[in-house]
Amino acid sequence: MHSLIEKLCAEKNIKLTENRRIVARVISDSTDHPDVEELYHRASKINPKIGIATVYRAVNMFEELGVIAKHDFGGKGKARYEKLEEEDHHDHLIDISSDEVHEFFSDELEKLKEKIAREKGFELVGHKLELYCRPLKK
Ligand SMILES: [Zn+2]
Repeated sequence: MHSLIEKLCAEKNIKLTENRRIVARVISDSTDHPDVEELYHRASKINPKIGIATVYRAVNMFEELGVIAKHDFGGKGKARYEKLEEEDHHDHLIDISSDEVHEFFSDELEKLKEKIAREKGFELVGHKLELYCRPLKK
């Protein structure tokens, strides 16, 4: 099975080397939001010879092609990545005590975003919401 990243690259006539294919698969198989070091760690389990520079280049290429999503949660300058999914939009809640990222979706919120844009005289074409949180004290 080809991952969506591989499929999108094929549609753009981009040929992927074996190592880039590995990086594409690793991102596709990730359900969290790994940074490049974590992606490198996972990719090297598949091919121990892969270098971190290769992972960096692959990730930059995928990002430029718009086939993966890049996040900079909290503006820390540490980019984290995730695959794009067809028909999947979600927002992120970042736990600042652990840097853990949780995904959520709220129909109510989506409607509200559109409503706000419309009331300001705009058509909503894109949006991104990040909530920074710390766990409630129990
Ligand atoms: Zn996400």
